[in-house]
Amino acid sequence: MASFVLSPRKKAEKNRFFFKNALNFSLLTLFLLLLSGAKGHWGFWAHKRINRLAVFRLPAEMQVFYKKYTDYLSENAVNPDKRRYAVAGEAERHFIDLDVYGDSALTVLPKYWPAAVQKFGEDSLRKHGIVPWHIQMAASQLTTAFREKNTSRILRISADLGHYIADAHVPLHTTRNYNGQLTAQEGIHGFWESRLPELFAEDYDMWLGPVVYRKDVARDIWKAIEASHAAMDSVLLFEKQLTAAFKTDKKYSFELRNNVLTRMHSREFSEKYHRMLAGQVARRMRASVQMVGDIWYTCWIDAGQPDLGQLVDSGPALSEQNAEAAERQNWLQRLLNVRPESDD
Ligand SMILES: [Zn+2]
Repeated sequence: MASFVLSPRKKAEKNRFFFKNALNFSLLTLFLLLLSGAKGHWGFWAHKRINRLAVFRLPAEMQVFYKKYTDYLSENAVNPDKRRYAVAGEAERHFIDLDVYGDSALTVLPKYWPAAVQKFGEDSLRKHGIVPWHIQMAASQLTTAFREKNTSRILRISADLGHYIADAHVPLHTTRNYNGQLTAQEGIHGFWESRLPELFAEDYDMWLGPVVYRKDVARDIWKAIEASHAAMDSVLLFEKQLTAAFKTDKKYSFELRNNVLTRMHSREFSEKYHRMLAGQVARRMRASVQMVGDIWYTCWIDAGQPDLGQLVDSGPALSEQNAEAAERQNWLQRLLNVRPESDD
């Protein structure tokens, strides 16, 4: 019988082996879940498009540089979302839960960060989102990067800034009910900002003319937040009304996404909802493109209009790219608790 009984040491080893595998498996599942969760926010498609379209509004002196890096700015428009679970302090840069501050949130909340910290404390502010202040900070970093003629930073901050500005234009980024989870409308976040633009944005008129200088960046950011928040009621209400008029099997359909059969809002439901919103998604997207281009331009003016022609060939420095790769690597290691080299 003894051969069927594992020695305590073997048993411990077996348990350890099992535990380790189970742990790795759950971490892997968690990792995949995080990856899929990281998709939110205007959808990757819309973010890329917003940065790309913003480039075409810039004056010739800026286009000489920005046009060469249009692909970089577009591809990296989604970096901040990819970093959301990797970098401490990143997640809160994408939203602000205005409703937490009551009906007069916009008069209660200070325009500038130091005053806001003094009034509410940094932890509390971060908990409920800091997008309007973070955009101001990123804009001032971009101005500095222009002044220093630091090509890598100009590109990196421009791409990031485009992302945060676009997020500030999404109505559901201004409420704690960001995914309809408090009103039994789960999934509305991705529906509004990913599914709708992917289906309809090709037809939007995105011709906006040249950029304009923003005298008061902070004020304009808050105005954008206000407009987003004002649009939020109809985002939720129309979805609720339309859902009540639809059978569940008509509301959703299955489509192939990356070779996986995925449940999506049906085309019919999407079309009707899009029509009820009466151009709202297009308006928010246009306003995003407008502000992204305008703020890039404003930073450049504020930096004394440096000659970007000189920087055209310098490109994003290798060190910058390596830093990003290392950052990702660290994140994976932290998440999976994997050591660089096995010491088993
Ligand atoms: Zn985002």
